[in-house]
Amino acid sequence: MPDLSKPVRVASKSVIEGCRKPYCERCGKKASGQPHHIRPRSLGGSDIKENLIQLCFDCHRQAHDGKILYTELALIAARREGLSLEEICEKIGWPAPEEVPELSSAPVPELSKYTLEELLQMYASLQESEDDTRWAKGAVCLVLTEGMGISSRKAASWLGCSASQVRELSKTFKTFPEEEMRVPFLSWRHHRIAAGTPDPQKWIIAAAENQWSTRQMEERIKIFYGKAKETDVFMAKAEKACLLAAEVFESGGKAADWLKEALILLLETHSRDAAQA
Ligand SMILES: [Zn+2]
Ligand SMILES: [Zn+2]
Repeated sequence: MPDLSKPVRVASKSVIEGCRKPYCERCGKKASGQPHHIRPRSLGGSDIKENLIQLCFDCHRQAHDGKILYTELALIAARREGLSLEEICEKIGWPAPEEVPELSSAPVPELSKYTLEELLQMYASLQESEDDTRWAKGAVCLVLTEGMGISSRKAASWLGCSASQVRELSKTFKTFPEEEMRVPFLSWRHHRIAAGTPDPQKWIIAAAENQWSTRQMEERIKIFYGKAKETDVFMAKAEKACLLAAEVFESGGKAADWLKEALILLLETHSRDAAQA
Protein backbone atom coordinates (compact mmCIF):
# COMPACT_ATOMS: atom_id res chain seq x y z
CA MET A 1 0.00 0.00 0.00
CA PRO A 2 1.40 3.44 -0.83
CA ASP A 3 2.33 5.66 2.08
CA LEU A 4 -0.27 8.41 1.86
CA SER A 5 1.27 10.51 4.59
CA LYS A 6 4.10 11.41 2.22
CA PRO A 7 3.80 13.71 -0.79
CA VAL A 8 4.02 12.00 -4.17
CA ARG A 9 7.59 11.94 -5.36
CA VAL A 10 7.66 12.06 -9.09
CA ALA A 11 10.97 10.35 -9.66
CA SER A 12 11.51 12.00 -12.97
CA LYS A 13 14.78 13.26 -14.24
CA SER A 14 13.04 14.59 -17.34
CA VAL A 15 10.84 16.92 -15.27
CA ILE A 16 13.91 18.43 -13.65
CA GLU A 17 15.77 18.65 -16.95
CA GLY A 18 12.68 20.20 -18.57
CA CYS A 19 12.67 22.99 -15.96
CA ARG A 20 16.29 23.96 -16.60
CA LYS A 21 16.70 27.43 -18.03
CA PRO A 22 19.78 29.40 -19.07
CA TYR A 23 18.61 32.41 -17.00
CA CYS A 24 17.47 33.08 -13.45
CA GLU A 25 13.69 33.18 -13.20
CA ARG A 26 13.96 35.61 -10.29
CA CYS A 27 16.48 38.22 -11.43
CA GLY A 28 17.12 37.36 -15.08
CA LYS A 29 20.88 36.87 -14.68
CA LYS A 30 22.67 33.99 -16.41
CA ALA A 31 22.05 30.70 -14.67
CA SER A 32 23.26 27.12 -14.91
CA GLY A 33 22.89 23.91 -12.97
CA GLN A 34 19.90 22.14 -11.53
CA PRO A 35 16.71 24.07 -10.85
CA HIS A 36 15.97 24.84 -7.22
CA HIS A 37 13.25 23.05 -5.25
CA ILE A 38 10.93 25.67 -3.75
CA ARG A 39 9.94 23.21 -1.03
CA PRO A 40 13.21 21.33 -0.40
CA ARG A 41 13.38 17.63 -1.15
CA SER A 42 14.81 17.09 2.33
CA LEU A 43 11.53 18.38 3.73
CA GLY A 44 9.36 16.27 1.45
CA GLY A 45 9.28 18.49 -1.66
CA SER A 46 8.56 16.73 -4.95
CA ASP A 47 10.16 16.87 -8.37
CA ILE A 48 7.16 18.48 -10.05
CA LYS A 49 7.45 21.53 -12.28
CA GLU A 50 5.34 23.61 -9.88
CA ASN A 51 8.06 23.05 -7.23
CA LEU A 52 11.01 23.86 -9.47
CA ILE A 53 12.54 27.20 -10.39
CA GLN A 54 15.77 28.08 -12.13
CA LEU A 55 17.93 30.39 -10.08
CA CYS A 56 21.32 32.00 -10.65
CA PHE A 57 24.17 31.29 -8.25
CA ASP A 58 23.46 34.32 -6.03
CA CYS A 59 19.71 33.83 -5.82
CA HIS A 60 20.21 30.12 -5.22
CA ARG A 61 22.52 30.76 -2.31
CA GLN A 62 20.12 33.32 -0.84
CA ALA A 63 17.25 30.85 -1.18
CA HIS A 64 19.22 28.20 0.69
CA ASP A 65 20.21 30.71 3.37
CA GLY A 66 16.52 31.38 3.94
CA LYS A 67 16.81 34.98 2.69
CA ILE A 68 14.21 34.56 -0.08
CA LEU A 69 10.74 33.58 1.08
CA TYR A 70 9.26 30.59 -0.63
CA THR A 71 6.06 32.47 -1.44
CA GLU A 72 8.13 34.86 -3.55
CA LEU A 73 9.46 31.91 -5.59
CA ALA A 74 6.05 30.21 -5.63
CA LEU A 75 4.56 33.40 -7.09
CA ILE A 76 7.11 33.33 -9.94
CA ALA A 77 6.26 29.66 -10.59
CA ALA A 78 2.55 30.55 -10.45
CA ARG A 79 2.90 33.22 -13.17
CA ARG A 80 4.96 30.83 -15.29
CA GLU A 81 2.43 27.99 -14.95
CA GLY A 82 -0.62 30.25 -15.31
CA LEU A 83 -1.83 29.35 -11.82
CA SER A 84 -2.58 31.30 -8.66
CA LEU A 85 -0.17 31.42 -5.72
CA GLU A 86 -2.65 29.34 -3.71
CA GLU A 87 -2.74 26.68 -6.42
CA ILE A 88 1.06 26.45 -6.50
CA CYS A 89 1.19 26.23 -2.70
CA GLU A 90 -1.38 23.47 -2.78
CA LYS A 91 0.63 21.56 -5.41
CA ILE A 92 3.88 21.81 -3.48
CA GLY A 93 2.10 21.06 -0.23
CA TRP A 94 3.18 24.07 1.78
CA PRO A 95 0.76 26.62 3.27
CA ALA A 96 -0.49 29.51 1.16
CA PRO A 97 -0.21 32.97 2.76
CA GLU A 98 -3.85 33.20 3.83
CA GLU A 99 -3.73 29.81 5.55
CA VAL A 100 -1.22 31.07 8.06
CA PRO A 101 -2.55 30.72 11.60
CA GLU A 102 -2.21 33.49 14.18
CA LEU A 103 0.16 32.94 17.06
CA SER A 104 -2.18 32.24 20.00
CA SER A 105 0.49 31.78 22.64
CA ALA A 106 4.25 32.23 22.88
CA PRO A 107 5.83 28.96 24.05
CA VAL A 108 9.18 30.13 22.67
CA PRO A 109 9.26 33.93 23.06
CA GLU A 110 12.37 34.42 20.89
CA LEU A 111 10.53 32.87 17.94
CA SER A 112 7.35 34.90 18.35
CA LYS A 113 8.36 37.51 15.81
CA TYR A 114 8.66 34.97 12.97
CA THR A 115 5.93 34.10 10.51
CA LEU A 116 5.01 30.52 9.62
CA GLU A 117 6.84 30.90 6.33
CA GLU A 118 9.99 32.10 8.07
CA LEU A 119 9.77 29.24 10.55
CA LEU A 120 9.53 26.66 7.76
CA GLN A 121 12.56 28.18 6.07
CA MET A 122 14.43 28.30 9.34
CA TYR A 123 13.79 24.59 9.73
CA ALA A 124 14.96 23.94 6.15
CA SER A 125 18.22 25.85 6.78
CA LEU A 126 18.75 23.90 9.99
CA GLN A 127 18.28 20.68 8.09
CA GLU A 128 20.96 21.73 5.63
CA SER A 129 23.39 22.78 8.33
CA GLU A 130 22.79 19.44 10.03
CA ASP A 131 24.20 17.77 6.94
CA ASP A 132 27.18 20.15 6.89
CA THR A 133 27.80 19.33 10.53
CA ARG A 134 27.82 15.63 9.79
CA TRP A 135 30.50 16.04 7.12
CA ALA A 136 32.59 18.08 9.54
CA LYS A 137 32.13 15.51 12.31
CA GLY A 138 33.07 12.75 9.86
CA ALA A 139 36.35 14.55 9.13
CA VAL A 140 37.16 14.77 12.85
CA CYS A 141 36.29 11.11 13.44
CA LEU A 142 38.47 10.05 10.52
CA VAL A 143 41.48 11.93 11.92
CA LEU A 144 40.93 10.40 15.36
CA THR A 145 40.55 6.84 14.14
CA GLU A 146 42.69 6.56 11.04
CA GLY A 147 45.01 9.49 11.58
CA MET A 148 45.76 8.87 15.26
CA GLY A 149 45.01 5.17 15.39
CA ILE A 150 42.43 5.54 18.17
CA SER A 151 39.86 2.73 18.12
CA SER A 152 36.33 3.76 17.23
CA ARG A 153 35.20 2.36 20.58
CA LYS A 154 37.67 4.57 22.46
CA ALA A 155 36.78 7.61 20.34
CA ALA A 156 33.08 6.92 20.91
CA SER A 157 33.61 6.80 24.68
CA TRP A 158 35.17 10.28 24.53
CA LEU A 159 32.57 11.68 22.17
CA GLY A 160 29.59 10.27 24.01
CA CYS A 161 28.23 8.31 21.06
CA SER A 162 28.36 4.74 19.80
CA ALA A 163 31.32 3.13 18.05
CA SER A 164 29.16 2.41 15.02
CA GLN A 165 28.32 6.12 14.75
CA VAL A 166 32.03 6.97 14.77
CA ARG A 167 32.69 4.35 12.09
CA GLU A 168 29.74 5.53 9.99
CA LEU A 169 30.78 9.19 10.15
CA SER A 170 34.41 8.48 9.27
CA LYS A 171 33.54 6.02 6.54
CA THR A 172 31.10 8.39 4.85
CA PHE A 173 33.61 11.22 4.96
CA LYS A 174 36.44 9.00 3.76
CA THR A 175 34.34 7.84 0.81
CA PHE A 176 33.39 11.38 -0.24
CA PRO A 177 36.19 13.58 1.15
CA GLU A 178 35.93 16.35 -1.45
CA GLU A 179 32.83 18.46 -1.87
CA GLU A 180 33.01 17.89 -5.63
CA MET A 181 32.57 14.16 -5.07
CA ARG A 182 29.25 14.69 -3.33
CA VAL A 183 25.89 15.30 -4.94
CA PRO A 184 24.82 18.65 -3.49
CA PHE A 185 21.08 18.08 -3.68
CA LEU A 186 21.25 14.69 -2.01
CA SER A 187 21.35 14.39 1.76
CA TRP A 188 24.15 13.16 3.97
CA ARG A 189 22.07 10.03 4.53
CA HIS A 190 22.13 9.27 0.79
CA HIS A 191 25.93 9.47 0.91
CA ARG A 192 26.09 7.38 4.05
CA ILE A 193 24.02 4.64 2.39
CA ALA A 194 26.22 4.75 -0.73
CA ALA A 195 29.38 4.61 1.41
CA GLY A 196 28.11 1.40 2.94
CA THR A 197 28.11 -0.39 -0.43
CA PRO A 198 31.05 -1.86 -2.38
CA ASP A 199 30.42 0.71 -5.13
CA PRO A 200 29.66 4.12 -3.56
CA GLN A 201 30.15 6.22 -6.70
CA LYS A 202 27.79 4.08 -8.74
CA TRP A 203 25.05 4.26 -6.11
CA ILE A 204 25.27 7.96 -5.37
CA ILE A 205 25.07 8.70 -9.11
CA ALA A 206 22.13 6.32 -9.52
CA ALA A 207 20.35 7.99 -6.59
CA ALA A 208 20.91 11.41 -8.16
CA GLU A 209 19.83 10.38 -11.64
CA ASN A 210 16.73 8.56 -10.47
CA GLN A 211 15.89 11.06 -7.72
CA TRP A 212 15.60 8.27 -5.16
CA SER A 213 14.56 8.93 -1.60
CA THR A 214 16.84 7.27 0.97
CA ARG A 215 14.26 4.54 1.40
CA GLN A 216 14.07 3.81 -2.33
CA MET A 217 17.85 3.83 -2.46
CA GLU A 218 18.14 1.32 0.37
CA GLU A 219 15.58 -0.95 -1.31
CA ARG A 220 17.40 -0.92 -4.65
CA ILE A 221 20.71 -1.71 -3.00
CA LYS A 222 19.20 -4.52 -0.98
CA ILE A 223 17.61 -6.08 -4.06
CA PHE A 224 20.78 -5.69 -6.10
CA TYR A 225 23.18 -7.22 -3.62
CA GLY A 226 20.66 -9.71 -2.25
CA LYS A 227 20.23 -11.19 -5.71
CA ALA A 228 23.87 -11.02 -6.59
CA LYS A 229 24.75 -12.75 -3.34
CA GLU A 230 22.23 -15.53 -3.90
CA THR A 231 23.55 -16.19 -7.42
CA ASP A 232 27.13 -16.24 -6.12
CA VAL A 233 26.29 -18.78 -3.41
CA PHE A 234 24.55 -21.16 -5.79
CA MET A 235 27.14 -20.76 -8.51
CA ALA A 236 29.83 -21.79 -6.05
CA LYS A 237 27.75 -24.81 -5.03
CA ALA A 238 27.16 -25.81 -8.66
CA GLU A 239 30.88 -25.65 -9.43
CA LYS A 240 31.66 -27.72 -6.35
CA ALA A 241 29.01 -30.33 -7.30
CA CYS A 242 30.45 -30.57 -10.79
CA LEU A 243 34.01 -31.10 -9.50
CA LEU A 244 32.86 -33.75 -7.02
CA ALA A 245 30.87 -35.61 -9.71
CA ALA A 246 33.89 -35.58 -12.03
CA GLU A 247 36.05 -37.01 -9.23
CA VAL A 248 33.57 -39.84 -8.59
CA PHE A 249 33.26 -40.68 -12.31
CA GLU A 250 37.04 -40.83 -12.64
CA SER A 251 37.26 -43.36 -9.80
CA GLY A 252 34.96 -45.69 -11.81
CA GLY A 253 33.34 -48.61 -9.97
CA LYS A 254 30.17 -48.81 -7.92
CA ALA A 255 30.08 -45.21 -6.79
CA ALA A 256 30.32 -43.93 -10.38
CA ASP A 257 27.44 -46.18 -11.51
CA TRP A 258 25.32 -45.15 -8.59
CA LEU A 259 25.97 -41.42 -9.19
CA LYS A 260 25.16 -41.79 -12.87
CA GLU A 261 21.75 -43.26 -12.07
CA ALA A 262 21.10 -40.77 -9.34
CA LEU A 263 21.93 -37.85 -11.63
CA ILE A 264 19.71 -39.17 -14.45
CA LEU A 265 16.84 -39.52 -11.99
CA LEU A 266 17.49 -36.02 -10.66
CA LEU A 267 17.56 -34.53 -14.17
CA GLU A 268 14.34 -36.32 -15.13
CA THR A 269 12.56 -35.16 -12.00
CA HIS A 270 13.83 -31.63 -12.45
CA SER A 271 12.82 -31.33 -16.11
CA ARG A 272 9.37 -32.79 -15.31
CA ASP A 273 8.91 -30.22 -12.51
CA ALA A 274 10.09 -27.48 -14.80
CA ALA A 275 7.66 -28.55 -17.54
CA GLN A 276 4.76 -28.58 -15.05
CA ALA A 277 5.56 -25.17 -13.67
ZN1 LIG B 1 18.99 35.35 -9.73
ZN1 LIG C 1 18.30 24.68 -4.41
